[in-house]
Amino acid sequence: MNSFLISKYKDVEPYVPGEQPRDKKYIKLNTNESPYPPSDRVLRAVEESAKNLQLYPDPACRDLRATLAGSLGLKPGNILPTNGSDEVLSLSFMAYAHDEKPAYYADVTYGFYDVLSGLFGVKAEHFALENDFTIDINRYCGLGSGLIVIANPNAPTGIAIGVCEIEKICKESPDCVVLIDEAYVEFGAESCVGLVQKYPNLIVSRTYSKSMSLAGARLGYAIANEERIRELETLKYTLNPYSVNRTALAAGIAAVEDIEYYRNNCRLVAKTRDKTAEKLKELGFELTDSKANFVFCRHPGVPASELSDKLRKVGILVRHFTGERTNDWLRISVGTPEDMNQLIAALAKILTTNH
Ligand SMILES: *Cc1c(COP(=O)(O)O)cnc(C)c1O
Repeated sequence: MNSFLISKYKDVEPYVPGEQPRDKKYIKLNTNESPYPPSDRVLRAVEESAKNLQLYPDPACRDLRATLAGSLGLKPGNILPTNGSDEVLSLSFMAYAHDEKPAYYADVTYGFYDVLSGLFGVKAEHFALENDFTIDINRYCGLGSGLIVIANPNAPTGIAIGVCEIEKICKESPDCVVLIDEAYVEFGAESCVGLVQKYPNLIVSRTYSKSMSLAGARLGYAIANEERIRELETLKYTLNPYSVNRTALAAGIAAVEDIEYYRNNCRLVAKTRDKTAEKLKELGFELTDSKANFVFCRHPGVPASELSDKLRKVGILVRHFTGERTNDWLRISVGTPEDMNQLIAALAKILTTNH
């Protein structure tokens, strides 16, 4: 078969999203979505925004920027709303790395970083995590120019580092842009947003997908020094000036106005995570210390792929990543307490019939 695709894209490896099955209703613990719906205020704002869908959205996202800036104690010029935080990542890889300016990130982390390196022809330098999946931050200090990318908490391990460690990296690799991906920060890690005014090389990416129950709306944002925001914004305007749609803008503002509802949900998810972790330990699982809305675990007696298949048969989806260091492990999103009771019961049954 002839291909029309130009040669530089022939070998790109696309991201493989967790499945969104249509065949029946599952307990979905495979893509780290919130188990709780958007608040009523958000639903009303979405409905209202639909009345003006014949009009383009504000490409500068001024209202959302002002709302977010107010809630973070920053200026609108420190914020760039995007189509999911994946767009912050794309723009940053485009802006700050190429074949001679590497992107530096962990060997076990969010798979999209490798996808972007492939797409943009970026030289990727993978720094191996320790055996227990903790990060040696000294590896990221004293680097030349390029882009450092750290998910904090990391995915799929959930392990977090502190703000002091991030500050050390910003300070000791001043010619690198340091991109901290805070997709899961609201579930128990410390945000480094307070450092953006002090370090012009720091970019923080945030998303509404996990903590704000808006994965389906595709909304994220970058927080950084105004100069970095202008650079990213210029690239955004070259690719897709209207990447954030009218409905997402309205939902994003209403969600911030309802922040207590979402904070409560995050607290509940964190509590459910810790309870689930205890029960998994009782079943013989080994776990990382996750500060995110998922647990990362392995069982010494049963391969992760087998557990994942057997859970699927009883209607529970979890995520298994093949790959040398993750093959034994399962990433399980935290659902409602009821979802997790069902998960634990199903695992207990699988483990007893296995032995
Ligand atoms: C989910 C996730 C994102 C991106 O989410 P969006 O839905 O594009 O906002 C970014 N980074 C990590 C580590 C994630 O897990």
